[in-house]
Amino acid sequence: MLLREIKNIFHLELDAIYGKDEVNSFFYLLIEHYFDLERFVLAMQPELVIDKEQETVIFQALSKLKLEKPIQHIIGTAYFMGLDFKVNKHVLIPRPETEELVRWILDDVKDVKQLLTILDMGTGSGCIPISLDKNLTNAKVFGLDISTDALKVADENNALLNAGVKFFEANMLSLDAETSAKELSQKFDIIISNPPYVRELEKEEMQNNVIEHEPSLALFVPDEDPLKFYSAVVNFAADHLNEDGCLYLEINQYLGEETMNLLEESNFKTIELRKDMFGNDRMIKGIKK
Ligand code: GLN
Repeated sequence: MLLREIKNIFHLELDAIYGKDEVNSFFYLLIEHYFDLERFVLAMQPELVIDKEQETVIFQALSKLKLEKPIQHIIGTAYFMGLDFKVNKHVLIPRPETEELVRWILDDVKDVKQLLTILDMGTGSGCIPISLDKNLTNAKVFGLDISTDALKVADENNALLNAGVKFFEANMLSLDAETSAKELSQKFDIIISNPPYVRELEKEEMQNNVIEHEPSLALFVPDEDPLKFYSAVVNFAADHLNEDGCLYLEINQYLGEETMNLLEESNFKTIELRKDMFGNDRMIKGIKK
C-alpha cells in the first residue's frame, strides 16, 4: 500500500478525535519509530510503498489511537529534555510544562561549581532527576516515589540513559515518620516536586486519554484538600534544605496564590511564580531563609 494512502486513512479515522495537526504529528512519529522514515519522506518519495508486515504494524497503532491510547504508550517512550524516557500506565507521561521547570533549575545553577545535592519528590518515570543528572556534572541526585511500579520504570530509565540517580520508595505524606531511607536525613541544595494536583472538579477539562490511561495516583487530589502534597513537600523542604537552598514546584494553574501562601507561611523568601508556555500559572520557586 502507498504510504500516502495510509496517511489519508489516518486523517479520515482520527481527525474528528484529535484534529488534523495532531494526527499529522502522530503519523510522522509512528513512521519514524517503526520504519525509521523521516517526516520529509513523503515529499521526496510520494509513491513510497510499504509492505504487508509494515501495514499491519501501522494499522495496529491506528486502532490504538482510535481508542485514545496515548501515543507515548503505543511507542513505549516519551521525549523529554532531549531524552527518550520509557513510560507505561504506572507513570505520568512527561509534559512539556515540566521541561520548563527543569530548564528553570538548570538556568539557575549554570554558574554553580560546588557539588549540589538534589531531591525530586514524587518522581514517576524519573524524568526530572534523570534529566538534571544528565545535564549537571556536579550533582548528586535522588528521587522518591510511593509506587513500586513507578520506581521500576524510573530505575530502568536511569540505566537506559546512563544516569546516576538514586531512587527510593517513600510516602511523601509521612516522611518524617519514616526512618528507613537514610538519604532523607541529609540536607539538600535543591528540592523539586511535581506532585498530584488535579482536583476531581477539574476532571471535565481533561482529555479522555489522560483520565483513562494515566495513573490517577499521580494526578488527582481531593477537592477539599487540593494542596495536601504541597503542604507535605513545603514542610519537609523547610527542614531539609540548606540555607539558601531552593524549592521548585510544578503547580495547579488555579491555585498559584494559595500555593505561594504555603511557602510564605513557612520558612521561604523571594517566592516567584512563573507561567508556562500556554500562559498558565505553572511553577513556583522559593529560597530557604
Ligand atoms: N499537568 C498534568 C495534567 O494536566 C498533571 C500533573 C500533575 O498532577 N502533577 O494532566
